[in-house]
Amino acid sequence: MAETDSRTSGIAERLIALFLCAGLTACGAYLVKASGEKAETLTSIHSLEEEKEQLSKEIDETLALVKETESKITEINSLDETIKAQRDEYYAACKALEDAVNAGTSDHKIAYLTFDDGPYVKTTGKYLDVLKEKDVLATFFQMGRTAEGHDELYHRVYEEGHTIANHTYSHTIRNGIYRNMDSFVNDVIKNREFIEEKLGYTTNILRFPGGSGTAVSRLGRGIKQKVNELGYGWVDWNSATGDGLELLSPAQYRDNVLKKTGNTKILVVLMHDYSANTLAALPEIIDGLRQQGYVLLPLFYDSCMINK
Ligand SMILES: [Zn+2]
Repeated sequence: MAETDSRTSGIAERLIALFLCAGLTACGAYLVKASGEKAETLTSIHSLEEEKEQLSKEIDETLALVKETESKITEINSLDETIKAQRDEYYAACKALEDAVNAGTSDHKIAYLTFDDGPYVKTTGKYLDVLKEKDVLATFFQMGRTAEGHDELYHRVYEEGHTIANHTYSHTIRNGIYRNMDSFVNDVIKNREFIEEKLGYTTNILRFPGGSGTAVSRLGRGIKQKVNELGYGWVDWNSATGDGLELLSPAQYRDNVLKKTGNTKILVVLMHDYSANTLAALPEIIDGLRQQGYVLLPLFYDSCMINK
């Protein structure tokens, strides 16, 4: 019995030893595995830290760029304000001259050159070249339809100091804008939004396509009041080359203006910047008007020629 107990105890010891040994082996394997995983985790933490550092650098750079852009926008806005202030100052000087001409205290006369229906890719740039060469600021009654896709030309008219005014978006006299009051108003507003979007500029001067006579004949006298309610003053003309009515020679267009000025103190001259023959006549029209004592100015809202 004692021998059996001693054998049993020996077996038990071996079993315990075996279990211990197996346990140790498992523990050892676990430790090896765990330390491998730890090393991997450390490597991955390291690369995440690098990534974090890189990202925070990129965020800093982006924030700096945002700040720089914001400061440029502020700068541009303040330039726009300056340009607007300069225009307002210039128009105030024009108004003072106009008042003096009307009061008879100035020997000058005034001619407002106006160009309708543009911009036209083929010709408007050439008109701008002549005006620049002759040092003249004029007024462009533009429609959005012909300006679509020609941003550079459209901007140039404005940036060279000319007055841009509303001539409706589509100018469809026959079966469009004068169909009813709503279609007219919608076309005016569409062009206002087009000008504002393209130039960041709001004009408060309008010319009816075909003139106020055409507009009134289609929609009644209420149309004049309507444009006033929309915030516009409107203007017709008392002088024209005639280029919108018939094709004549440059000399005839020139004479239509220069030989019909009479004693008119303030002229509003209607021309169209699609006309090659008016373009050819323009230098002589400008020189001839100046010789007759006219000062050439762009239109402005407070002018006595604007119907409010
Ligand atoms: Zn027109």
